Amino acid sequence: MAELLEVHGLRHSFGDFVAVDDLDLQLLPQRLTSIIGPNGAGKTTLINLVTGLLAPDGGRILFDGDDITRLPAHARVRRGLGRSFQVSTVFPQLTVGENVLIPVLARRGTSARAFAGVRDDAASWEEVERRLDAFELSSFRDTAAGTLAHGSERMLEVAMALATEPRLCLLDEPCAGLNPTERRRILDLIQRLEDETQTTFVVVEHDMDVVFAVSDWIVVLDRGRVLSEGPPERIRSDPAVREIYLGEEASS
Ligand code: ADP
Ligand code: MG
Repeated sequence: MAELLEVHGLRHSFGDFVAVDDLDLQLLPQRLTSIIGPNGAGKTTLINLVTGLLAPDGGRILFDGDDITRLPAHARVRRGLGRSFQVSTVFPQLTVGENVLIPVLARRGTSARAFAGVRDDAASWEEVERRLDAFELSSFRDTAAGTLAHGSERMLEVAMALATEPRLCLLDEPCAGLNPTERRRILDLIQRLEDETQTTFVVVEHDMDVVFAVSDWIVVLDRGRVLSEGPPERIRSDPAVREIYLGEEASS
């Protein structure tokens, strides 16, 4: 199966600090991949490089076989790269429905400037309703997004990322600040969408129970490099991973 994303020798430094260090990575389509690793391992920096928020100091990024290393972020979105952020990016004063409408309109080629004029666009709203329903957000359609409970807000973030219909969707800690039940609910939903849609997901997540339960593939980052990768059962028993990530002795 052809790789959806290939990263070759990717590097990025902040001053003297090397955050992503000669990193190689391949992602296959329709395989839910989790990226794990200690705080500061370079997970967010990697996502920022792949989505074009940061320019690399070296290396190449290929998406569906095309070199996108120098493409601006918006051009990558148009090619089918979607993402959500570790920190919330919802528009608090807009309703939940309007927050989903924005990426729907962007995908349909309606500029943000025309937003006011198409607030009544029936087809777009029908799509918004369908998307809210999938994320159990229908009852909040007309609620200001800023007043949502944290769990629903994180759901909204993922719904917004998916409304661009990305082929690859990178979710940076979609479950940050959620309790285990809420975490499992979002990850179960992502797992279902992975099966039912054409979108391939990459998720940064800390809860190892959830990671092992939902992932097809796990990539372990440490100090800007891939320490190990493989299916959950292999990662679970990898001594280097246990030592560095799970804080256990390699010999135990
Ligand atoms: P992770 O998401 O795995 O926790 P990050 O990619 O956010 O890690 O950060 C990797 C390292 O780069 C950390 O040590 C962090 O302090 C550093 N870093 C991240 N962003 C910046 C920045 N804008 N300026 C300076 N250092 C940064
Ligand atoms: Mg991070």
